Amino acid sequence: MQIEVIQLGPMENCTYLIHQDGKALLIDPAWDMNFLEHTLQAKKLTLLAVFFTHGHFDHVKFSQTLLENTGVKGYLEEQDLALSGLDPKYLTLYSGEQQLQIGPFQVHIIPTPGHTAGGVCIQLGNNLFTGDTLFPGACGRVDLPSSNPRQMRQSLLKLAQLPEDTQIFAGHSYNGKCSSTIGYERIQNPFMRNALRDKELL
Ligand SMILES: [Zn+2]
Repeated sequence: MQIEVIQLGPMENCTYLIHQDGKALLIDPAWDMNFLEHTLQAKKLTLLAVFFTHGHFDHVKFSQTLLENTGVKGYLEEQDLALSGLDPKYLTLYSGEQQLQIGPFQVHIIPTPGHTAGGVCIQLGNNLFTGDTLFPGACGRVDLPSSNPRQMRQSLLKLAQLPEDTQIFAGHSYNGKCSSTIGYERIQNPFMRNALRDKELL
């Protein structure tokens, strides 16, 4: 399985292209659908599904065109539907934890509300796509409509229980960095440390 980070748009958003044996998934495709469609074509990849970590505009912008052109479904947690502005006919809406087999990919969706009510992290094997829940050294904003600081704390605690060598891939590349590990974040991330300390797990 290969993971490619594609930075698009003016807000350092990271789209992830995951592929294996000519089959592909996209996580948070936004901003430049021409580029993404050309990339899939150039690499001779068949897109099987799209996943959204949450419904904020910078993670979904223009993605409806891609869903329309390719006919694949976008998976979105139902609580973020209104936020996303996407037409539900292009979506597979779901609620709660999910285990999905999509072609060669086993996809585990972990609800991690806090930044938004319908925010999730998407786990494929040892890799965790964290959207705006967890960044290297930080967590997502919790002062936005549908944010909830208490839920964020619970979500960070949940992620801290994952194996230490879990590789994380965040929804933005702030300061040029979008990847880390759970083990590193348990030690270095003040928000995750606080959540653990409150539960006396540190
Ligand atoms: Zn966001």
